[in-house]
Amino acid sequence: MGNSLSTENILNRDEELKVKYLAQTDFFADFTPEQLREIAPEFQWQTYTQGTEILKQGQKVPYFYVVAEGRLVSMLEKEKVEALQLAVFEAGSAFGEIALLTGQPAASTFRCIEDCRLLVVDSMHFALLLLRWPNLNQKLIEKLSGRLRMANDFLFEAKYKEYLRSAMQLSQYQDWFYGVWGGKGITMSINSKIEEISKKPENLLIIGENGTGRQMLAWFIHKRLFGEKSPFVTIKGGLFEQQWGHSISSLLTMIEGGTLIIKEINLLPPEAQRDLAKQLKEQAPKCLLLGTVYSEAERKSLTAELLDCFPQKYLIKPLRERKRDINAIAQAVLEKLAAKHNRKVPRLDHESTRLLLSHNYRQENMTELIQIIERAFALTKGDVISIEHIFFGPTVRKTGKTINLLAWPPLKKLLQKGLFLSLIQGITAVLFILLISLLLGGSDLPLTLTILPFVWGLWWPALVILSPLVGRIWCTVCPFSSIMNFFQKYLHWDRPVPAFLKKYDYLLISFFFLLIFWVEIILGMRQDPFRTGLLLLTLLAGALIFGLIFTRHTWCKNLCPLGGLVGTASIGSVLEVRADPNICLNKCTTLDCYVGTAETAGCPMFQHLPYLDNNLDCKMCFNCVRNCPNDSVQLNLRFPAQEVWHLVRINQGFAIFIGVSLAMLLPVIYFESVRSVWPENSWLLYFSLAYWACALIAAILTWFLVKPYKTKAANSRIKLMFALIPLVLAGHVMYQLNFLPGLDRLTAGLLLESASGQISTWYLPLTQIAQILALLIGLLLTSFAVIMVRHTSKKKV
Ligand code: SF4
Ligand code: SF4
Ligand code: SF4
Repeated sequence: MGNSLSTENILNRDEELKVKYLAQTDFFADFTPEQLREIAPEFQWQTYTQGTEILKQGQKVPYFYVVAEGRLVSMLEKEKVEALQLAVFEAGSAFGEIALLTGQPAASTFRCIEDCRLLVVDSMHFALLLLRWPNLNQKLIEKLSGRLRMANDFLFEAKYKEYLRSAMQLSQYQDWFYGVWGGKGITMSINSKIEEISKKPENLLIIGENGTGRQMLAWFIHKRLFGEKSPFVTIKGGLFEQQWGHSISSLLTMIEGGTLIIKEINLLPPEAQRDLAKQLKEQAPKCLLLGTVYSEAERKSLTAELLDCFPQKYLIKPLRERKRDINAIAQAVLEKLAAKHNRKVPRLDHESTRLLLSHNYRQENMTELIQIIERAFALTKGDVISIEHIFFGPTVRKTGKTINLLAWPPLKKLLQKGLFLSLIQGITAVLFILLISLLLGGSDLPLTLTILPFVWGLWWPALVILSPLVGRIWCTVCPFSSIMNFFQKYLHWDRPVPAFLKKYDYLLISFFFLLIFWVEIILGMRQDPFRTGLLLLTLLAGALIFGLIFTRHTWCKNLCPLGGLVGTASIGSVLEVRADPNICLNKCTTLDCYVGTAETAGCPMFQHLPYLDNNLDCKMCFNCVRNCPNDSVQLNLRFPAQEVWHLVRINQGFAIFIGVSLAMLLPVIYFESVRSVWPENSWLLYFSLAYWACALIAAILTWFLVKPYKTKAANSRIKLMFALIPLVLAGHVMYQLNFLPGLDRLTAGLLLESASGQISTWYLPLTQIAQILALLIGLLLTSFAVIMVRHTSKKKV
């Protein structure tokens, strides 16, 4: 154990050292420490003593090298002539990239002039790095064009042009585009533009927002005019001057017989625009120039000289202004994906189609839609794409400081192995079955009557008190879920969740929660072992029936009343399970957290981790920790309640659950205080009427207040409702404290002795003190959350 720990420490230190040296290198200057930590394992150490030749001129170059320590020189060797020293490489320098890119032998010899330590990555992993990290590719192009600028010798210039051309081939797009535009109207219009340009090639300015398909249009025009193999070079307007300001003519020559596309061409400074226009006029290049701008206003902001160079323009409308195209695009993308992966074309069900149509795609237009469809295709195994496969909007943003508890290796191992959790789940399941048998069987009445107050007096309060602190930790060990899981292994119809369940889950959960509470009170379950056993058995039966028929843990997500309570309570908890979206989006190809692996099922709550940004629907089962192949999942310790004011997406309907859970407390607390005074029958009648009336009024009021239309956006009204959670929980704690075993027998008091020796006393039952405390804490936290919600909403305005 000690040995493995120290090996781990050494490995960690080694990784950190690699990160430190990579960060000093110009190539990786834009990378965040997290990204460097990901890249670091690809690099290996190599050490060389002074005088050693690392590479010999003419030799095949096996690696990309980063100098970590020491110095070396590159030398040009010629027969019978003394070697010419070209450059000195110190810590932070890198070399070998060009040879790896072109497959050519080393152009010079590299010799250590001090003892050197290098980080190296082989050609295959270097190519993978370039593909995975587009900014690395961009750096390479920047570096090559920089060298081209400095090259003053004809041969060197020619060589760099050749290198650069090879580098640019990396950004070719033949596999990237679907060639899908939407319905008939837009497809015909685009095709006729392509036709027009192919007959009369003229520079074209494409106007459209990000993701509208400007680059795709450019690619199809290019393909039609020059074919796939000819150069198709994309340069960002903002970087054009820095990369090509002095070598526009070289660039235009290189792209001869191909297409140059300058994205956001309006970002070129006016002087550079005039320069480019001049070169285009003087040189009359044999390449096509395509520029893109965001809007007509940006087109008009171009200098007159550059505008003159674009005799043609084409406007692509944003997707939100042509929503009729959404279905056609989605369908076409699904068909292409299905053909590529040799699968049946999945169908979008009614709800998911509605959801797609309701979204505005302001971030990335068609690209955003395509990414949503690609993700849904990867997430669904069956023939139907439904609402839980549709993830859109921004991925999780980091809000506030967190500490990842999984950085502590023993805990990570414990959760990844899962044996320990399975053991605890097994034990709670067995104890639970014993408990039900005892309660229903009634064979040992004294024992049953001893256990009963603990079931009611500890279990309920524990749920209400623990969830806001540590989240849905109850669900981690919940016997309903463990027993359901066990039987699912042997019998599972795996049916999709019915649409009405997904749509009205919050109403059903609220209703079942009210029902359990009401039944518990009017049937006096706290004193009745048999009825308590029956209630637990009914809940278990519900979990089992839904678990065996429907997919994943439909019961937990869409029906469980306890889940509703602990889920809402856990919104403010100090623990959260989250993924690092940078890793998910840049590295993940399997989406195992959702899909699952052979050993462990995917997320039972239908969560795709890069989009998981609240605790409501995470039952802390840690399946994702076990499944994620990229170490992206974190178990974070965070500031309590901050999720309330940082909410971005949430099942809006749970505002109704909060409303009714608060309103039901009025009759529950009031009628409890008069139960012993009223005749039982009248009490039951009036209590029931008041209980359901309060719940109904609260539900209607909240409904009108938040209007839960099944979008997931958390607006400030929703956040204000969620800010009430501490108060709701305080109310429930106050009620539950009445039943905490033994508490009613404790009293706290003050005893004061006056100067005359007279003694005065003040006593308060401990239950009351605890209730006042709970109320104060609830009020305080709710007020704080309301202030923070108001504050953050104002900041956004
Ligand atoms: S949601 Fe309900 S059934 Fe599921 S784990 Fe939580 S308490 Fe148990
Ligand atoms: S959490 Fe892991 S499995 Fe899920 S998307 Fe991220 S990297 Fe992939
Ligand atoms: S798999 Fe992960 S995200 Fe899903 S419920 Fe379990 S812990 Fe939460």
